[in-house]
Amino acid sequence: MRVRNKPWAREMLDSHPEYVIPSPEENKGKWNSVFEKDQPLHIEVGTGKGRFITEMAKANPHINYIGIELFDSVIVSALERLTEAKLPNLKLLNVNAEKLTDIFAKGEVNRVYLNFSDPWPKTRHAKRRLTYKTFLKLYEDILVEKGELHFKTDNQGLFEFSLLSFSEYGLLLKYISLDLHNSDFEGNIMTEYEEKFSQQGSRIYRCEVQYP
Ligand code: SAM
Repeated sequence: MRVRNKPWAREMLDSHPEYVIPSPEENKGKWNSVFEKDQPLHIEVGTGKGRFITEMAKANPHINYIGIELFDSVIVSALERLTEAKLPNLKLLNVNAEKLTDIFAKGEVNRVYLNFSDPWPKTRHAKRRLTYKTFLKLYEDILVEKGELHFKTDNQGLFEFSLLSFSEYGLLLKYISLDLHNSDFEGNIMTEYEEKFSQQGSRIYRCEVQYP
C-alpha cells in the first residue's frame, strides 16, 4: 500500500495518549483496566483509517475495541475520527502486529478482525500475509478458547490462500461468503477499502473461523 507521508502525524498521535496508547506492552494482561468498562475485547489488525473499528465501537458499546495499524500517517486518520466521536470503548495502537504477543496476554482478546489485508501476491512474500500460519499462531496466543477471526477481502487469491491456511492450521470454518454484498449477511460495516473496491465492481469475500 502506498502511504502519503504526513510529517505532523507523529506529534498528533503523541498528543492523544488517551486514545493512542503509548508503550502498549505495559498493559499486557490488564487491557480491561484501560477502558471504562470490563467487557469483551475485539481487535482489528491493519485498521487503516479506522472507519470499520469506529463504526463497530459506536454500534456495540458493550464491547471494547482496539485498532492496530503500522503506519502513523494512516492511523492518524483513525485518531481524527475518534477525537470527533469520543468513544470510551475504542483505543488505537500504532504498532506492528508481529508484536501482538508482547502486548496481549493469552485469553485477553475475544475476536480478531482482518479487513482487506495487503495481499502480498508474490510467493516469496507469503510470510507477510496476515493470514500466514505464523500470524495465525500469534492470534491463537492472545485469543480466548474458541476465539474467532473474521476476515474480509476483495482479493480472490488472498482469500483462497487464507482459507487453505486456516484449514491447514486446524481452524473451524464457520461462515463463508463468496459475494458478501449479495448475501443474506446482516449488519455489515464497510471499511474504506471495501467501499472503494465494491464501487469499482469487485466482489467482496468474507469468512469467520474459530480456534479450538
Ligand atoms: N482495513 C482497512 C480497510 O479495509 O480500509 C485498511 C486496509 S489496507 C490495504 C491494510 C492495512 O494494514 C494498511 O494500512 C497497513 O499499513 C496495515 N498493516 C499491514 N501489515 C500490518 C502489520 N504487520 N501490523 C499492523 N498493520 C499492518
